[in-house]
Amino acid sequence: MNDSDFEEFQYKLNLMLEKNRLDSFNNKWVFDDSKPCNAKKLAEAGFYYTGTEEEPDFVQCFFCDKQLVGWEEEDDPWQEHLHRSPQCEFAKHNKLEMELTLAQFIQLREKLVMKLFKKWMSKRDEQFEWMFKMINELKRR
Ligand SMILES: [Zn+2]
Repeated sequence: MNDSDFEEFQYKLNLMLEKNRLDSFNNKWVFDDSKPCNAKKLAEAGFYYTGTEEEPDFVQCFFCDKQLVGWEEEDDPWQEHLHRSPQCEFAKHNKLEMELTLAQFIQLREKLVMKLFKKWMSKRDEQFEWMFKMINELKRR
């Protein structure tokens, strides 16, 4: 694991905390706090900000990686999360971070670590495959 992999790993793991997800919005969210679909509600429902200038309302779930865009100000982030990604284990709890039991929190964290690790492993496998291909091509010359 190189430094940038490790940083990404840590960044993703930190997004498990609602406070860090809320920080990711950094006042860039398209609706203000008086609307049902505000940054705090999105962070509570597991989303962090991945928007750009072209698509300022892009968010992603820290756990299932589901990306959602095209929000309306009356949308309920929890309902949208459950509707669009019914298998998400975080969304299925349907609980605020502080309502999760310690055991539930630890279990989610363990699963998240495993997911991040598997992703890193498959990236590494792709790199190895590419290297083997290159070696085989060189051998053929
Ligand atoms: Zn999710």
